[in-house]
Amino acid sequence: MTSPTGYGPTDNVLPGHLDLLVAGRSTGGATGETFEVTEPATGEPLATVAQASEEDVDSALQAAVAEFEEGSWRRTNATDRGRVLLRVAALLRERAELFAMAEVRGAGHPIGNARWEAATAADVFEYFAGAANKHYGDVIPVQDSGVDLAVREPVGVCALVVPWNFPLLIATWKVAPALACGNPVVLKPASLTPISALLLGQVLLDAGVPPAAVSVLPGPGRTVGEKLVCDPRVAKISFTGETATGARILAQSAPNIPRVSLELGGKSACVVFDDADLERAIASTPLSVFDNTGQDCCARSRFLVQRSVYDDFVAGFVEATSQLVVGDPLDEATQLGPMVSSGQRQVSLDYLDIAAQEGARRLCGGEASGPGWFLSPAVLADVDNEMRVAREEIFGPVASIIPFEDESEAVELANASPYGLSGTVWTGNVGRALRVTKAVRTGVISVNSARSVRTEAPFGGFKQSGLGRELGMAAMSHYTETKNIFLSDE
Ligand code: NDP
Repeated sequence: MTSPTGYGPTDNVLPGHLDLLVAGRSTGGATGETFEVTEPATGEPLATVAQASEEDVDSALQAAVAEFEEGSWRRTNATDRGRVLLRVAALLRERAELFAMAEVRGAGHPIGNARWEAATAADVFEYFAGAANKHYGDVIPVQDSGVDLAVREPVGVCALVVPWNFPLLIATWKVAPALACGNPVVLKPASLTPISALLLGQVLLDAGVPPAAVSVLPGPGRTVGEKLVCDPRVAKISFTGETATGARILAQSAPNIPRVSLELGGKSACVVFDDADLERAIASTPLSVFDNTGQDCCARSRFLVQRSVYDDFVAGFVEATSQLVVGDPLDEATQLGPMVSSGQRQVSLDYLDIAAQEGARRLCGGEASGPGWFLSPAVLADVDNEMRVAREEIFGPVASIIPFEDESEAVELANASPYGLSGTVWTGNVGRALRVTKAVRTGVISVNSARSVRTEAPFGGFKQSGLGRELGMAAMSHYTETKNIFLSDE
């Protein structure tokens, strides 16, 4: 069966052109301008996309405000909103292959990863469908005679700005809780990867979210994005991307006092102690930095390894890294696809030059190949935590390995970063696992596990890695306001 917006369950061929969605309406945009999306694996044009203008931002916000003030979505009871989100999840599962293809061809993700992302996007909607009627307030015992109620209300129009590294997943982390709480959404995808966000917008409409509550506006961050986040009609901004962009958004939107969540950069540490199961650590740590070709805010790009096992770890890590399969993202055997753009690849190549100048030893990788923007995963040994490659977010397939002597030095090095997003501790000692996870200032940390993000658990950063939390029930409070109501019994 074909959906109202034209997609059937078995379609996996990406459209050659996509329009914007302004208040649920598919349109070429106020100016009629388009831009080209390029396929990272080939460097060839993939699709044209209508480009939003400031006028489209205005139309989307006008409709979203009207929907919030007079429309049906926030007045729909939470259980029924949850039912609509369950339909979104079901449609995402039906169209999983289409979404997987959008991430493979539009972002360069290996097909296996992309299928997991499409399935997880549905998981996210299922989770927040269930959360919709479980996020409630309190009855508070106050001194006055009566009943005091702290109730949760939807926050208002949500401006959701997402990056190119996980275009679909990160959009769902924002869109699903925002809608679950009864808010209209205006989604701004990254210019490099707008396709899956536009397809997601179609799914929301097909599932029955009111059109005025759904806008998807691809266009340049510096014009369309900035106009959106600086508009006083926006009650809530949720942004994922570079720390400098997050700081700019915070400063520029400040006069409106919007609610702001920021998920920003990272330089996360993977700490390997000499009491760890070294074999297991070596087998799973390469993908903790190189997955998604290193374009991951949670990438463990600093390996802190205890001196007594340093040589063994480095040898095993290089061997395991050399076995990672880099190649065509459509090939099921591929583990690492291309980087998203030639510009992003150049950033990594520049950092490899900087590392050489600073005296780090490159043990493997760092070779660019084509067509497209491939870069083999690079391992740098004998890195000092003061070097730029150890301090700055590279956002590419570059791992730095740094030796340490004892537990206190490991904690000191892990914390010697302006960032605090993710991390792992490899140890066989439970006491040490507890001491180190408590001492490292980071929003997410795993013990003997390479993963960071779980749909049901809060995710976000300390320090310059961000503000607020996504996922889990923690996300719901960021899309609601608390109102206190007192009912006197006198
Ligand atoms: P940005 O932070 O510039 O972009 C992220 C999103 O914000 C995009 O949708 C972008 O639009 C938009 N944007 C940019 N400027 C503004 C603005 N002033 N107001 C509102 N929205 C804006 O990241 P980049 O894509 O340029 O990547 C640069 C670097 O950022 C990477 O090399 C990496 O280090 C880091 N990064 C970190 C991520 C993370 O998850 N921590 C994710 C992605 C990148 P547009 O695409 O049109 O520019």
